[in-house]
Amino acid sequence: MRKQIVAGNWKMNNDLDASKSLVKKITKKLKKKSLKDTRVIVAPTFVSLQKVAYKAKGTKVEVAAQNMHQAKSGAFTGEISAEMLKSVGVNIVILGHSERREYFGETDVILAEKVNAALENKLEVIFCFGEVLEDRKSEKHFSVVESQIKNGLFHLEASAWDNIILAYEPVWAIGTGETASPEQAQEMHAFIRKIVADKYNQEVANNVSILYGGSVKPSNAKEIFSKEDVDGGLIGGAALNADDFIELVKSF
Ligand code: PEP
Repeated sequence: MRKQIVAGNWKMNNDLDASKSLVKKITKKLKKKSLKDTRVIVAPTFVSLQKVAYKAKGTKVEVAAQNMHQAKSGAFTGEISAEMLKSVGVNIVILGHSERREYFGETDVILAEKVNAALENKLEVIFCFGEVLEDRKSEKHFSVVESQIKNGLFHLEASAWDNIILAYEPVWAIGTGETASPEQAQEMHAFIRKIVADKYNQEVANNVSILYGGSVKPSNAKEIFSKEDVDGGLIGGAALNADDFIELVKSF
């Protein structure tokens, strides 16, 4: 059955010392809580991954990378492969974040290749997608989301979905302070679960965790996370503060 998940995307924030200090605070605070049903994930920058993974070892906190390259190795200056992530103790990778799609030209085709490379290396994938404001205004949000999921993931066998976490992140809500209403989130998440069920089967659809992302904070998390098809959140800004992040984890 699907799990509740709170994942913090630290983006390009926190140097090594700040990353170590933040993960330390989070693991310490989580020790006191009984959260056996909720997975807690943090995604620091590449330079901090190894140390953060080391500090998180044996704790409730799991560590994800924010990106990776699809090739195994070679002449790709500045890039990091799936194998390299595994070698520093990372087992999860975020792929398809809207900032990667928008600022770094990551297309559906590239993302499908990245998904394959991650899964081949036994990395779990948090796959992000979501519509821009124009799409929502013109009522294209369902078709945009459907095509991102279809192009990025529907080539996979059903069994591969054990290692897929979905993250619906309407781009107009990321870092803007504007959040989808709990009803808008639920409507989209139910739609996503239905297209997964139609493509595969109800079991695959029921088992996949679907996270919501877009200005989730302690004041609105409870209501969003209480929706039937919302299994947690991918958190940006609020994940940079240990107290806020712990509040979010406690919001279920
Ligand atoms: C994100 O970037 O994944 C995100 C959801 O950011 P924020 O919570 O800051 O909107």
